[in-house]
Amino acid sequence: MYELKNFSEVIVKKALEEYLPKANIPCKCERCQADILAFALNRIPPRYFVSLKGEVITNFESQMVPDKARILAEVVSAAQIVATYPSHSKE
Ligand SMILES: [Zn+2]
Repeated sequence: MYELKNFSEVIVKKALEEYLPKANIPCKCERCQADILAFALNRIPPRYFVSLKGEVITNFESQMVPDKARILAEVVSAAQIVATYPSHSKE
């Protein structure tokens, strides 16, 4: 019924979604996206909350995310790291 969610994870995913189309990185595959999320999330403190299972969080108003600039910066730097050291071999 209830599940634990990490608000930071929700926000980082959203930030990556916004950043990816304009990101100047050699690969944007699912694996690289997951790596970028992992790198960024390891540098951002988690913020857990309880949510109803299946509930979709749609409100990403900036006032809910006081450190959005920092989160975006972490996503950008994570993307650069993954671009430089991809987990998979280059095609
Ligand atoms: Zn890739």
